[in-house]
Amino acid sequence: MFDAHAHLQDARLAAVLDDVVRRAEALSGVCCCGTSPEDWAALERLAGGVLPFALVPAFGVHPWWAGGLPAEWVGQLEDALARHPGAAVGEVGLDGVRDTVPAAAQEAVLTAQLELAARLGRPVVLHGARAWERLAEVLAPFSGRLPAFVLHGFGGSSEALRRLLALGGRVSFAGTVCAPRAARARAAAAAVPEDRLLVETDSPDLFPVGGLPAGGALAAGAPLNQPANLSLVLEEVARLRACPAEALADLTERNARQAFGLAACPGRVGFTLGDGEEAV
Ligand SMILES: [Zn+2]
Repeated sequence: MFDAHAHLQDARLAAVLDDVVRRAEALSGVCCCGTSPEDWAALERLAGGVLPFALVPAFGVHPWWAGGLPAEWVGQLEDALARHPGAAVGEVGLDGVRDTVPAAAQEAVLTAQLELAARLGRPVVLHGARAWERLAEVLAPFSGRLPAFVLHGFGGSSEALRRLLALGGRVSFAGTVCAPRAARARAAAAAVPEDRLLVETDSPDLFPVGGLPAGGALAAGAPLNQPANLSLVLEEVARLRACPAEALADLTERNARQAFGLAACPGRVGFTLGDGEEAV
């Protein structure tokens, strides 16, 4: 099992992180995404620690935090990526849910990060809540220049999905698919081609129906999520696709390894790549 999107450096998890990591022993990997220059140092500390799974760090500025950045933020991002040759760029993107950062500012910050990812040859982890169509437009000129990009927590329309797949996107689904009202996410989870499908928890957010709380503080009234709950996401996506959950776990893990180019992420125990799997 590979959790394609989480935020284990999130301060809300700090008090329970040891337990969260221990309970995630069944996972082989977690892509852990930064959200602003303020959490990159905590992410670097986590990436330098000893963990029972492969941790792929991603450094980036989330659209919620794209306002009021320090002047030197692009240089800081490039430095963090240089220190972590196996790191991706993320969580970056566009957000149509909150209006705290104007769309033009979000796009400027996203474009700068896509340019950097293209120049450095890094995969990208993208957020596009209620902005998937616009995200496809911004991504179009970059699609051939990025080794891979992953649409995280996808919940867009079938047309947005079609456009993003046509650009070469991989699509990751979170615990929202477990909610019956999440019709778009559930339809998309059934429709994404096998070789583009990933799963994630977005811990500590998006606590899934029936999940095990991480403990600690509550996030906006919902329990804190943890990577151990990935099995629930896998089971639900497997139901939607009418396939065995175990096969889906293997498939999505293989897809995540390819997306994140794990051959370039050395030194993690229990994590070996098969022949040819490092090709992205
Ligand atoms: Zn996230």
